[in-house]
Amino acid sequence: MTIALPPSLRVFERGWLSANGLLCRDPESDADRDADNARPTPATRYRYTLIDTGYVSHAAQTVALLRHALAGAPLARIVNTHLHSDHCGGNAALHAEWGCRITIPAMEAAAVAAWDEDQLSFRATGQECARFVHDDVIAPGDTLQLGGYAWQVLAAPGHDPHALLLFAPEPRILVSGDALWQNGFGVLFPELDGGGGFAEQRVVLDLIAGLDAAVVIPGHGPVFDDVGAAVERARSRLAYLEAEPRRNAVQALRVLIKFRLLQRQHMPDSELLAWMDDASYLHRIRARFFDDAPMTALMAEGIAGLVKAGAARHVDGVLYDHG
Ligand SMILES: [Zn+2]
Repeated sequence: MTIALPPSLRVFERGWLSANGLLCRDPESDADRDADNARPTPATRYRYTLIDTGYVSHAAQTVALLRHALAGAPLARIVNTHLHSDHCGGNAALHAEWGCRITIPAMEAAAVAAWDEDQLSFRATGQECARFVHDDVIAPGDTLQLGGYAWQVLAAPGHDPHALLLFAPEPRILVSGDALWQNGFGVLFPELDGGGGFAEQRVVLDLIAGLDAAVVIPGHGPVFDDVGAAVERARSRLAYLEAEPRRNAVQALRVLIKFRLLQRQHMPDSELLAWMDDASYLHRIRARFFDDAPMTALMAEGIAGLVKAGAARHVDGVLYDHG
């Protein structure tokens, strides 16, 4: 079932790990706004903002998608819900194309300005992200005017300590990033380092439950309107993970390997193992959750999980991307 959104909002639902994008359209001026309210004419000029930009290895596809959707208009602005490379990996390419303004969560400003890949988690997780420069920031308590609506900026730690939600009370639409999907939520990365995550995620789910959103535009997967049921599913998943924190670590392992696979398309086991040995995050996961087992054991568990989920094929010692 496709859920109808206002014509000023358009969702690009992407593949397995490239985050969805939300394109917001606003009339350029008051005159254009009047035209928009009546009936947009070819002369009506719009300002376009894209929320989240997909994974770096899909950047060319993201630019092509936008070029088609904008039909000659420029992209004025990018807003990121959080700075994982599947949400901001297209920033640099889109900026190169349109010189758009880039807005990021305020807590990440210093790390982005210095391009500190450790703080930004790219290096630790073995991720790649093309460098970009931000123009301004948003923080919890701010309001963003996009697509003709006022969006409240809300904190959503748990999956990422600096992640943000955007909620427009009037059409009751929530942009949830990786804090809530139709079935679950993103890996609780801070938890893997002992930095908390379960408690934060519970607070975020309570916050979302209290918003009374009618529609959620998630970072991954389809737009959905069974919001109460999705929150309940997320709560039971949280309880399942919290009962055995190693489950969150196993999920992280699968996601990180899948990301790498998206970049490489296929990888011999030897290449995957060398990459895993280089990712400091995986060594910390190994020490905390796998009793310091050899990295080959983690690799085997990650591969088995991806194959079982239908997200990869493993043939003669080579792992292939599959979906
Ligand atoms: Zn994320």
